[in-house]
Amino acid sequence: MADKSDRRIKVGVLTVSDSCFNGKADDRSGSNLCHLIDEDHLINGNICVKDIVPDDIEKIKKTLKEWCDVKKLDLVLTTGGTGFAPRDVTPEATKSVLEKEAPGMTIAMLKKSLEVTDLAMLSRLTCGTRGHTLVINLPGSTKGSEECFRFALPGIPHAVDLLRGSDQSVKDTHSKLQAEGVVEPSKDHHHGNHQSVQEHVHPKGHHHHHHGERGHHHASHHHGGGGHNHGQKSEHGHHHHSHTHSHHHGHNHGHHDSSKVDIKVAYRPRESPYPLISVDEAVQTVLNTTPQLDIETVHFKACMGRFLAEDVFAKDALPPFPASIKDGYAVIAADGDGKRLVSGDSTAGAVPEGTVTSGYCVRINTGAPLPVGADAVIQVEDTLLERYTDDGRTELEIKIMKPPSVGQDIRPMGSDIAKGEKVLCKGQKLSPSELGLLATVGVTHVPCFKQPVVGVMSTGNELLEPDEALREGKIRDSNRTTLIAQLQEHNFPVLDLGVAKDSPDSLLKLMKSSLEKVDVIVTSGGVSMGEKDLLRHVLQTDLKAKIHFGRVFMKPGKPTTFATVDDDKGRHLFFGLPGNPVSAIVTCNLYVIPALNKMLGNTNPGRTVIKAKVEKDIHLDPRPEYHRVLLKWNPNEDLPYAYSTGNQMSSRLLSMSTANGLLMLPPRTEERTVVLKGETVDAMIIGRL
Ligand code: AMP
Ligand code: MG
Repeated sequence: MADKSDRRIKVGVLTVSDSCFNGKADDRSGSNLCHLIDEDHLINGNICVKDIVPDDIEKIKKTLKEWCDVKKLDLVLTTGGTGFAPRDVTPEATKSVLEKEAPGMTIAMLKKSLEVTDLAMLSRLTCGTRGHTLVINLPGSTKGSEECFRFALPGIPHAVDLLRGSDQSVKDTHSKLQAEGVVEPSKDHHHGNHQSVQEHVHPKGHHHHHHGERGHHHASHHHGGGGHNHGQKSEHGHHHHSHTHSHHHGHNHGHHDSSKVDIKVAYRPRESPYPLISVDEAVQTVLNTTPQLDIETVHFKACMGRFLAEDVFAKDALPPFPASIKDGYAVIAADGDGKRLVSGDSTAGAVPEGTVTSGYCVRINTGAPLPVGADAVIQVEDTLLERYTDDGRTELEIKIMKPPSVGQDIRPMGSDIAKGEKVLCKGQKLSPSELGLLATVGVTHVPCFKQPVVGVMSTGNELLEPDEALREGKIRDSNRTTLIAQLQEHNFPVLDLGVAKDSPDSLLKLMKSSLEKVDVIVTSGGVSMGEKDLLRHVLQTDLKAKIHFGRVFMKPGKPTTFATVDDDKGRHLFFGLPGNPVSAIVTCNLYVIPALNKMLGNTNPGRTVIKAKVEKDIHLDPRPEYHRVLLKWNPNEDLPYAYSTGNQMSSRLLSMSTANGLLMLPPRTEERTVVLKGETVDAMIIGRL
């Protein structure tokens, strides 16, 4: 264990800012970086020191030196002071203490930042090493510093290993990268390893060209299609190990038959132009973008599962009169125990017969109104019958065995619900008991948030209806059935939108007509990197949709796309789910259902996550993985066990069939490559427990 903790990366975060130093501004960037490391665990390390210095070159240098030479941190992140303002001197201070510069890291951060904003060209980030410490300048804004940090992440663990000279883990990384088909920079990290590069060249040899231009760099930078990519800004796009592999196999790679559609296959972008964002960020984006729907009045019997849009008040008291809790006799408590003459009846639902005077009582049953004069009810069990009529039908006199007390066995008027009391609150979910309350207080027309109408569409030339016989190259469409059923299980009104062919016209036509009918369109297929994956193109160019994200760092479901279109009818949501059946259902659970919940007025729209123990060792993927499981509780154990539903290939719908949970597995790190049997992991509930 000691060995393991020794290997955790020791990090210092240095905020460079006059205003933060003077306490005139909050150090949000610095705190955020600390959070990303200590809470979000973006790297296997922890914050050892955090400090704020003004934009003063000497103070910056002094702190950097101390952190490198005395504290011997592995990684120092600075934020702020990298721009063009006169006082921006962080890069100068950094340069003057560095022993070696690491321009590759700077380039990686800048290149990706430029895809986010042109203004990135104005940040002057310096990176390099001093002793065994890696120093990275990050911009000053919270967003910019987080983004750049994330861009630099892929290089950090290995850089730290190299600086520490920890041979074994360096070797591990090398062999892992080799296994993944990624080319490593050579060990002295001065030049690209040309020999390995050559093993992975594109047939057309663009890379040599780039090589010449750029000098050394990571070989996975070689998939750019030159300028041939429809003018999209993704000449090189983002790189991640988990998808570099397929890019090393030249232009003929790909399973689609392009001959029938007029799309210039060779010109498609060779990498997704969409930044890879985290699942959390994706869910937050969806929820922040999703509107709550308007209010409509619904008959209370049709309100099940809806969310109240206004408070509900009681028009009347409950009980509306003092009511008996027992079957027995209404009496005057002050008469004490002993005999009473029976002077009448009070039955539930009727006006009481007679009044109670001293020495008399009235028979009463549960729920019946207390007759005038009485102030207590004595239950029949505490009485004896003294006299009755000859026919046995009427009680004439009884004897009370226990002295009654005032108010005994009486529900005072309004004791359950006072007149005018708020019985249900805005935002509350209407379940069986709430419907009962509505009935009680007589509110039969209920203001509720409207239900989102969802349309489900499949895309793909290969798709047949389930009742069709298979023909060559075709498969039956299963996603529409699964998605529709899943949404119906959550009581959302669903429309079957049919299948769109893989052509811009077919997609556009179906999307346009669907927009008139539904609030939310859920499609499956057509979002991966295949040349026929036109959905995003149609969304953006023809429908003027705003694409909020097009890639998520998760498995399965990486190409999940989320977009909105605002028109005179309001905001429509588009979820472009991947075509693989399991990916589609996982991403529907992760993104679509929370969005629909929010539209419906649910103020807590996220999914329920619990802890579960894994029932066998699970090898982790480089991406956070959503692993379909059956959650089962053993008697006498607090936590359920998660039983894997088998082969997790995302094409295997079968693995969903018994799943009621999605294990939320963390991404693989060098330190943690498996989750061992018995370990506890988060699990999202997706079905009946
Ligand atoms: P795509 O995202 O369109 O590239 O599709 C990925 C994979 O999912 C391909 O193997 C498709 O054939 C398959 N697929 C796409 N849509 C469906 C569907 N509606 N039902 C079953 N499989 C599908
Ligand atoms: Mg397809």
